Amino acid sequence: MPKHFSIKPQRWRPWVNTLARAVSQRLLPSDCLMCGMSHSAALCDACMSDLVGSDTSRCIRCGLKMMSSVHTDTLCGACRSEPPAFDQTIVVADYAPPIDSLVQDLKFRAQLPLASAFGGLLIRAAGSSLQAADVLLPVPLSHERLEQRGFNQALEIARPLARAWNMPLILDSCVRTRNTRAQAELPLTQRRVNMRGAFAVRDRRVIENQHVVIVDDVMTTGHTLQELGACLKRHGAARISNLVLTRTPTR
Ligand SMILES: [Zn+2]
Ligand SMILES: [Zn+2]
Repeated sequence: MPKHFSIKPQRWRPWVNTLARAVSQRLLPSDCLMCGMSHSAALCDACMSDLVGSDTSRCIRCGLKMMSSVHTDTLCGACRSEPPAFDQTIVVADYAPPIDSLVQDLKFRAQLPLASAFGGLLIRAAGSSLQAADVLLPVPLSHERLEQRGFNQALEIARPLARAWNMPLILDSCVRTRNTRAQAELPLTQRRVNMRGAFAVRDRRVIENQHVVIVDDVMTTGHTLQELGACLKRHGAARISNLVLTRTPTR
């Protein structure tokens, strides 16, 4: 084979596999992934409602679950003593069974139909509170991670929001500049350092004086969203709301 045709298989194989999976998932009839009942979407309505669970009192700023005894207090201690760069966080559910394994099904087993179900949950959780926002920003993946996975799960769950709210998605104007180690692999003390300088804004015009809604699948310590939020504020974003599918119950 001539040299210029030798594209390394590992470069295109993940993309082809993801595309093939997406096509077959769209064409074949599916059952609800949780209860197995026949349903046209990845999750039936009853299971969607079960995933949200009961009302939980959360810090309005960072989404941290709070003790019910202090539910009148809308900010957690950490946000009061050191306010984060973002202004608000809306969380659908705790990162706990059964939604945690569904998140992994989307991310690591490319169950892409779950993305529209998750988008639906985010739309329900936000209600009418974010419809006056300006732009949606799915947390960017590094080039390497995107190539390996074949898709950005945050972008996939943000697409239904963009359609429902007729809101533009920021795709290339904000990027992850380096392939940070997965936060989950690191001790808590190193996570903030790991994220430092991880994001860059390439075109500040898309966020300047805008209310930006950052979309992500899992929030743990909040260091990723803090770093991204700080980067956006430095580049002139007026307000930042995090809209996340799941959050670990403790920091
Ligand atoms: Zn179901
Ligand atoms: Zn808080």
